[in-house]
Amino acid sequence: MKKHNFYAGPSILPQYTIDKTIEGIKDFAGSGLSVLEISHRSKEFIACMNDTIALVKELLEVPSGYQVLFLGGGASLQFAMVPMNLMNTKAAYLNTGEWASKALKEAKIFGEVVEVASSKDKNFNYIPKNYTVPSDADYFHITTNNTIFGTELKKDPDVKIPLVADMSSDIFSRPVDVSKYSIIYGGAQKNLAPAGVAFVIVKEDILGKVTRPLPSMLDYRTHIKAESMFNTPPVFAVFAAQQTLKWLKELGGVKVMQKKNIEKAKILYDEIDRNRLFVPTIADPEDRSVMNICFVMAEQYKELEKPFADFAKSQGMIGIEGHRSVGGFRASTYNALPGESVKALVGVMKEFESKN
Ligand SMILES: *Cc1c(COP(=O)(O)O)cnc(C)c1O
Repeated sequence: MKKHNFYAGPSILPQYTIDKTIEGIKDFAGSGLSVLEISHRSKEFIACMNDTIALVKELLEVPSGYQVLFLGGGASLQFAMVPMNLMNTKAAYLNTGEWASKALKEAKIFGEVVEVASSKDKNFNYIPKNYTVPSDADYFHITTNNTIFGTELKKDPDVKIPLVADMSSDIFSRPVDVSKYSIIYGGAQKNLAPAGVAFVIVKEDILGKVTRPLPSMLDYRTHIKAESMFNTPPVFAVFAAQQTLKWLKELGGVKVMQKKNIEKAKILYDEIDRNRLFVPTIADPEDRSVMNICFVMAEQYKELEKPFADFAKSQGMIGIEGHRSVGGFRASTYNALPGESVKALVGVMKEFESKN
């Protein structure tokens, strides 16, 4: 039976990426060697790294003055690297979920952290609005897509201090005005590549302003200078990222992707709103994530949660259990998820409704 992959991360990749990766494992760039065994200093891999960086710059229209890095340690290491490299005394954070809270916690190690607003009071089921960002903070940190709770900040905010964003789970799903940000980072394993690499887009002139000594590996300038080759980069994951970016470019880029993503999300949200068995966890359509769609059983049908989970699984729906802090269901509809998978899930929801 066909499997429909709704995992939140690591998650579905384009078939193109899988096929090209298999080819590369057998013979990387005509080198006669596998990508798994090639030196990161080989001319073939240096070309791959440079092309991957160039594709990121092209697809996101990264302005000059910014550098694109591929680093180990995932998004979670960036939670610490950002404050280490940018915070002198104070930083401001918007707390919109579990990942945002983790980022905030790490920042506290390096100075004063102002939580400008939080949606924790309602289990992070909305995006706070009308908050004030202190003008004397060194930067303002946001999480654009809250993977666990299913909310998304879809507009690039205007702030007067440097803006930093964790875009782990919505990068490349829509256009972003990079010029509004000082740093954009994320783990690649949601919309770009297998696990093992983080991307960082950093505005160079934001760096070098802190007085604390920085270990070489944790200093963005080290990686800028070495063009992401200071130490051995995650060769395989970068190669796979290059394939996904080629696929995305071929498809027409992030604007085309955004249109497809919004269409897919609408089909599923419409069904959640219509189907009497389910309710969305995010009430305000404005705040609803286009990437991670969360829903629970309606109050009077709570006992059907497990039967629905079992039925969906029997129909090939993989990875739709909600995160343990929310419960219910979460369907992740990343770039690579075909519209037919969303339609298949909707079909399963309708069928289950008619049986119950
Ligand atoms: C998955 C995720 C992370 C964690 O990424 P790691 O690479 O595992 O550290 C951080 N932030 C967001 C928004 C995520 O979705």
